[in-house]
Amino acid sequence: MLTRQEIGDSMLEIVKGDITVEETESIVNAANDRLSPGGGVSGAIHRAAGPMLWQECKKHNGCATGEAKLTGGYNLKADYVIHTVGPVYSGSRDDAGKLKSCYYSSLCLASDNGIKSISFPSISTGIFGYPVREASQIALGTIIDYLKTHKEIKLVRMVLFSTGDYETYRTSLEEVLGEDL
Ligand code: ADP
Repeated sequence: MLTRQEIGDSMLEIVKGDITVEETESIVNAANDRLSPGGGVSGAIHRAAGPMLWQECKKHNGCATGEAKLTGGYNLKADYVIHTVGPVYSGSRDDAGKLKSCYYSSLCLASDNGIKSISFPSISTGIFGYPVREASQIALGTIIDYLKTHKEIKLVRMVLFSTGDYETYRTSLEEVLGEDL
């Protein structure tokens, strides 16, 4: 399952898959504020990368919600992991801004480090409870706005773990673009 959309000079892809086997230069981890392995996608990334990833994460002294930190990829195919901490869904107005900040901070960190391709999981929509529909609109809206103004990032992939999430992101992409694919 793959949906592709050109945004300016860059490509946005939505795929169903496992982010730990992605071959983009960087993958994003939906981390916790201690940057410890934990469960969900973070546990899977740490298992695939090996124990050296946690050793490097420890040196960062955690990460605030909405911010992002860069490490190596170790045993992953990706050269880098960008760790960002999504908001725990509370139903308050602050949630959306914090989630938007995760995508924006991760993209800025990639740009600052000359990274040209990046894969995202669906941040906050697992253990942190953010409704996927709302989260997908924030994720795609933020990525599309960024790609329109930052040509240095050539490829962004949204990697969804379930068919349902893939379909939700696909529908949201159509809405955000305001056209049928
Ligand atoms: P959060 O705490 O930010 O909610 P989770 O890891 O619980 O993070 O979930 C975020 C999303 O990542 C969920 O949609 C979950 O299904 C998905 N996910 C879990 N494992 C993987 C994986 N290996 N690749 C891609 N997505 C994954």
